[in-house]
Amino acid sequence: MTRDPTITIIGAGVIGLAVAWELSKKFEDVFVLEKKKTFGQETSSRNSEVIHGGMYYPSGSLKAKLCVEGRHLLYELCKKQMIPHNRMGKLIVATEKEEINVLENLFKLGEANGVEGLRMLDRKELKVLEPNVEGLAALYSPETGILDTHCLMQYFYDHAKSNGAIVAFNSEVTGIEKTFDAYSISVRNGRDLTALGTDMVINCAGLDSDTVAEMAGMGVDKLNYRLRYCKGQYFRVNSSKSRLINRLVYPVPKPKSGGLGIHATLDLAGSMRLGPDDEYLDNRNKDYSVKDAKKGDFYASARKFMPFLEEEDLIPDTAGIRPKLQGNGVDFRDFVIEDETGHGFAGFINLIGIESPGFTCSLAIGQMVRKLIKNGTVPAQL
Ligand SMILES: Cc1cc2nc3c(=O)[nH]c(=O)nc-3n(C[C@H](O)[C@H](O)[C@H](O)COP(=O)(O)OP(=O)(O)OC[C@H]3O[C@@H](n4cnc5c(N)ncnc54)[C@H](O)[C@@H]3O)c2cc1C
Repeated sequence: MTRDPTITIIGAGVIGLAVAWELSKKFEDVFVLEKKKTFGQETSSRNSEVIHGGMYYPSGSLKAKLCVEGRHLLYELCKKQMIPHNRMGKLIVATEKEEINVLENLFKLGEANGVEGLRMLDRKELKVLEPNVEGLAALYSPETGILDTHCLMQYFYDHAKSNGAIVAFNSEVTGIEKTFDAYSISVRNGRDLTALGTDMVINCAGLDSDTVAEMAGMGVDKLNYRLRYCKGQYFRVNSSKSRLINRLVYPVPKPKSGGLGIHATLDLAGSMRLGPDDEYLDNRNKDYSVKDAKKGDFYASARKFMPFLEEEDLIPDTAGIRPKLQGNGVDFRDFVIEDETGHGFAGFINLIGIESPGFTCSLAIGQMVRKLIKNGTVPAQL
């Protein structure tokens, strides 16, 4: 006799919620366990809220593919469901001659990845779009935008629940035991400890996703799933200067760096932030402090293309932490989105290293997980 599997998703950030919404359309027994008191309290509320174009990632990678697919799905959903967003466009600005080559390579990579509307601009064309921005040349991406990330997560949460998914907050997964053809999950809720049986586990635990995989008995180091934390701090810019740009403005990225370079983003209210920078942490402390001492570095980076800035315009804001699979100075690593049947864990899907552009990819990741379940070998009754 066949029956629907019970599916337990660990983590209610944007990825866990997007997966829950997608799976709740097809499966009856979808549970989400989240250790915090509500959804989206970690990386999903500590990011730039940018809908990325998709030109930074190697062609054929999951990051490139899911970013372009996810961006289309995201704009469609935002428009249909009136989720606040703005397809305002973005400029990557070269301030030194040697950077123009890098821009041209990014342009080619973007085209190969299917990013629409990319255009190389000379200084004059750049000045027409952004009279207050200084640079020798720029790459223009009209499809890049911003969105209200909280509204998107609220949408996933509400609709997963109305499809029948159960989302339990204050529920920390502390252990996972593989039984004959299923899993037993230990959950701590305050002082209470309970065990929950499930056919499938979907690990969307963000910064703790490697630890969760380890709880189940996976050899995380052998599988190359160990995460490093790379912090990104932001400074808010004095509101009178925010109106001096009309779209997102980025520098040319440095090779093998942990981020895209300190850039200027606008939020939906038109307020400007600089950041995030990138700093690998020596330990796994989730330290979200923003150091005022960093102001000078932020100012020095940003004033190269925004000469109207003064150091005193910058006010410490928030910070986020990237769950990185690659160490400091190491080349590109892709998302891990894996059905672990081949490693002896039938019914277990890992999502590890879902750093930027994870928000942009969220809907496409949800669909990918659904296909993994449908096409995969797990569980037996599927
Ligand atoms: C500085 C920065 C800027 C970024 N900017 C952008 C951007 O502009 N555009 C973009 O597309 N992407 C961006 N990203 C990436 C994006 O924010 C992430 O990819 C996305 O938020 C990851 O979501 P998640 O659900 O995987 O992780 P999280 O939001 O961290 O969610 C994981 C959840 O799992 C829970 N959890 C962990 N362990 C357990 C456990 N044992 N039991 C129960 N629950 C558990 C946590 O409490 C958490 O709620 C940025 C990231 C950073 C750090």
